[in-house]
Amino acid sequence: MIFEAGAAVQFCAPARTYDCIIVGGGPAGLTAAIYLARFHLSVLVIDAGSSRTAMIPLTRNHAGFPEGINGQALLERMGDQAKRYGAAIEDGEVTRLRAGPDTFTVTTVFGAFVARSVLLATGVVNRRPDMSEADHDSALQRGLLRYCPICDGFEVTDKRIGVIGSGEHGAKEALFLRSFSADVTLLDDGSGEMPHKLAEEIAAAGIAKMQGPVGTITIGKDVISVETAAGKLAFDTLYPALGSDIRSELAVALGAEASGEGCLTVDRHQRTSVSRLYAAGDVVLGLDQISHAMGEGGVAATTIRNDLAEQSPLRRASTPVADPDTR
Ligand SMILES: Cc1cc2nc3c(=O)[nH]c(=O)nc-3n(C[C@H](O)[C@H](O)[C@H](O)COP(=O)(O)OP(=O)(O)OC[C@H]3O[C@@H](n4cnc5c(N)ncnc54)[C@H](O)[C@@H]3O)c2cc1C
Repeated sequence: MIFEAGAAVQFCAPARTYDCIIVGGGPAGLTAAIYLARFHLSVLVIDAGSSRTAMIPLTRNHAGFPEGINGQALLERMGDQAKRYGAAIEDGEVTRLRAGPDTFTVTTVFGAFVARSVLLATGVVNRRPDMSEADHDSALQRGLLRYCPICDGFEVTDKRIGVIGSGEHGAKEALFLRSFSADVTLLDDGSGEMPHKLAEEIAAAGIAKMQGPVGTITIGKDVISVETAAGKLAFDTLYPALGSDIRSELAVALGAEASGEGCLTVDRHQRTSVSRLYAAGDVVLGLDQISHAMGEGGVAATTIRNDLAEQSPLRRASTPVADPDTR
């Protein structure tokens, strides 16, 4: 696709039109790729390599893996499965989507590609507490820092839990975790307004509330400590409940409808409000879970297949075709 001539980079005309380009190679995008490839459709996944699943040391709530599975290993299995049926997977970031009358042009730093449909499976990015990248990643690997109470609240049953967050979001996360432990502390920097009813619930549930700025976070062998207005507090685990940034900007730039937070609005079949543009996984409003992302990926892929078949019937040639590019 790219020819380098000295410092200049020239792009030649795209060689083929894919049935679908999937932006994002997490559980949603890779599930859709498996389905689409098995529908005998041409599919290209372009992935910037920052799936939230890759951050999971060991997921224990994902069905089918009684001993748990490492997130990166799960992604590798899914990628292998998609490639086995002919899906192409490229590393890189999609920087722009352009919609034409019948196709999309998908621009990346390594070239432009054309597709009859696009699935956006770009996920979200968690806002992180103020700590170095090295400390953050080490704490995450050791279970001192966690982002997903639904996923791993069980692992901190009866432990000392700290929650960094304010307003409704922080309060709800602390209350959710209260069903796993009697020792929950909400570290509230006051940046959000907590509804009176939730403040009452926090007090009634016996959740300690520390008001004031959250200071330096340090990690020890089995402990994570936070400087607060009341001094240094130690926890077995810390949950940042600071919200997340939704990676929906490519679709929003095309005019796709989104919630105030940026989650893409889809119909029951994962269609966005832009024709032939679909979305699945965390980038859509819903339960931010691997199983949910996979489910939406499967629904999106089947919708894409059926919508493409309505535009022009999908009919298998009676004799096998050697080169898939000639389909
Ligand atoms: C620490 C942690 C632990 C978790 N534990 C669990 C668990 O145990 N069980 C569970 O069910 N869920 C868990 N989750 C949630 C789970 O990881 C997510 O719900 C899941 O990854 C969502 O899948 P997705 O495909 O929608 O998005 P992601 O997996 O985030 O993948 C999105 C992909 O899109 C790519 N992308 C984004 N923008 C572009 C672009 N412009 N161009 C190209 N590529 C792009 C990203 O690089 C990324 O690879 C956890 C999350 C975290 C952070």
